[in-house]
Amino acid sequence: MGAVLAQHTAWVNAAHAIAALRGRRLLTPARLAALDIGGLARVIRSAGTPRVKARRLRALTRWILERVDGRLVRMTTMPLGPLRADLLEIPGLGPETADAILLYAAGRPVFVADAYARRVLTRHRLIDPRAGYEEVRRWLEAHLPSDPALFNEFHALLVAVGKSNCRSAPRCEGCALRFDLRGRRAARWR
Ligand code: SF4
Repeated sequence: MGAVLAQHTAWVNAAHAIAALRGRRLLTPARLAALDIGGLARVIRSAGTPRVKARRLRALTRWILERVDGRLVRMTTMPLGPLRADLLEIPGLGPETADAILLYAAGRPVFVADAYARRVLTRHRLIDPRAGYEEVRRWLEAHLPSDPALFNEFHALLVAVGKSNCRSAPRCEGCALRFDLRGRRAARWR
């Protein structure tokens, strides 16, 4: 649920929406799927664009009910390629959201190659600035041990450095990754 609620907003806003769902005991696929769009939108309004996200949550919860019988644990053993392709068929689920679900909810070795990751890798000249999401994801997965716990931690660290230093305007002085620039300036990002 968090992967959808966090689309285009800060995690803190998604967290408020999750807390509102939890407070109303709605954090099960069956209960969410039973709500009408307007009612669900009112509960999750803190996450922004509530009607859009309510429709996406409904689509995701229906998928969970129909494809894995309401049991997320089944996603831990399904063949990864077809499972990812299936998730990407859900309306409103792009690759970043699908990969967040695969990594965080299903514990699968899929890297969430979000904007923080792409920005750091580009500035350190590790990927082409024109590389798309899939290319960056594949690059990360090819250069790291295929370990969901490591992907989880590595992604969290990239987000942390993105928030503390690698912002729209980089603050390289004092950044933990400054050593890796080897005396060069960070490459241009966008
Ligand atoms: S050293 Fe500069 S370019 Fe590298 S991650 Fe830190 S802020 Fe970004």
